[in-house]
Amino acid sequence: MTGQQREVGGVTVYGVDVDPCTRCRHWHGDNDVIALRFACCDQWFCCFDCHQALADHVPAVWPQGRRDVKAVLCGACGHSLRIDEYLACDSTCPACGAAFNPGCARHYHLYFEVDEADYGR
Ligand SMILES: [Zn+2]
Ligand SMILES: [Zn+2]
Ligand SMILES: [Zn+2]
Repeated sequence: MTGQQREVGGVTVYGVDVDPCTRCRHWHGDNDVIALRFACCDQWFCCFDCHQALADHVPAVWPQGRRDVKAVLCGACGHSLRIDEYLACDSTCPACGAAFNPGCARHYHLYFEVDEADYGR
């Protein structure tokens, strides 16, 4: 299981070939530096596919009523963002200014319960 987990920002992040900025085999561009905490197991993973590969259960999303949970980790600085902070951050880490992949917006529904109002901010 080497390369499947790493300490980042004080939490353990699981991922396939996880790097020090929480990139993984699936998402390894310069700005693919966020990890996500899953509602099902309260564990951090690099991405949805890493959860599929490494967890033994069906993933769950955070309900809209839990937007106060810190469920997004900036792999560049180790800061964790609340879900509402992340959805409003305009793909930039509020702590260190690192750029996040704006394409992640297409995958909100894999992690969070969302509605139309959450897209295109
Ligand atoms: Zn899980
Ligand atoms: Zn991954
Ligand atoms: Zn940051």
